[in-house]
Amino acid sequence: PYDVLVVGGGPAGAAAAIYAARKGIRTGIVTERFGGQVLDTMAIENFPSVEYTEGPKLAASLEAHVRSYGVDVVTAQRAKALQPAAQAGGLVGVELESGATLRARTVILAPGARWRQTGVPGEDTYRNKGVTYCPHCDGPLFKGKRVAVIGGGNSGVEAAIDLAGLVEHVTLLEFDGKLRADEVLQRKLRSLPNASVHVNAQTTGMIGAAGKLAGLTFTDRGTGEKRELQVEGVFVQIGLLPNTDWLKGAVTLSPRGEIGIDDRGHTNLPGVFAAGDATTEPFKQIVVAMGGGSTAALSAFDHLIRHSAP
Ligand code: FAD
Repeated sequence: PYDVLVVGGGPAGAAAAIYAARKGIRTGIVTERFGGQVLDTMAIENFPSVEYTEGPKLAASLEAHVRSYGVDVVTAQRAKALQPAAQAGGLVGVELESGATLRARTVILAPGARWRQTGVPGEDTYRNKGVTYCPHCDGPLFKGKRVAVIGGGNSGVEAAIDLAGLVEHVTLLEFDGKLRADEVLQRKLRSLPNASVHVNAQTTGMIGAAGKLAGLTFTDRGTGEKRELQVEGVFVQIGLLPNTDWLKGAVTLSPRGEIGIDDRGHTNLPGVFAAGDATTEPFKQIVVAMGGGSTAALSAFDHLIRHSAP
């Protein structure tokens, strides 16, 4: 069995594997693909000490770093179930879709998340060409431009407030008749001179020209009127879905499906830790995920020295 088995090869899982392997313990990592969401990212400009890099490049360096420690890397495999230890200090099982079960003294869950998409025509065509999901990542690219935010929950309204400080104008579109964000955020948004809000707005398409986004279309659900908004950027903020369906019933998940962890990365199960975008960690960013992965690995090591036979 492994001393530490990491599930998920994004920034959180990679950092966890590096920290575990550096303790000289038997470490494995099983992942559908190495790099996670980073593979889908072009420019990365908020990784401290690296002014600019690109997702595929960062993913390749992460994989090389993990492999340099002799970690057992299993890719193109999905975990489908977690089998808690039968008794305290026993082995935890990770069942793969292939049918095999990997066993480990400790497991670190880092399966990440994916952005919920609008599904309207044009979203795929203009993804990363104006359509984006991450204000912290891509906000500065739209300095001085007109943008829209789709989604009136806390993340949408926070994104609009954040963007208003950078862009010429931000329009927030909400499908429902009212915003769902906390009142204090709504008040702040409404106080900004360069922000406007449309409720009852059903986005129907993203439009563009010459391979670049030029705007979006929406229907006013109150009047049935079809409208068009000219913007160079659209930030879709309608939810981040954790990849945790396979963990239901095995570990405690929040109402949003996020793995519940404490500040040491412990889940509710002894010997099972978690990190990154799949967890209740509030900030979904590369460096935050890496920090979480490192914390989880150090906690797993702490667990091993307390619970393993000498
Ligand atoms: P992920 O990166 O999601 O990795 C999880 C991994 O686990 C994936 O490889 C997945 O295939 C695998 N996996 C999932 N389920 C299973 C399973 N059942 N079995 C096996 N493997 C599984 N953050 C920044 O800090 N700066 C940026 O500029 C930035 N830009 C972004 C741009 C885009 C387009 C996107 C989508 C995200 C961006 N982010 C950025 C956010 C950042 O990518 C994430 O916060 C970070 O990747 C989360 O890391 P993670 O390891 O928790 O999860």
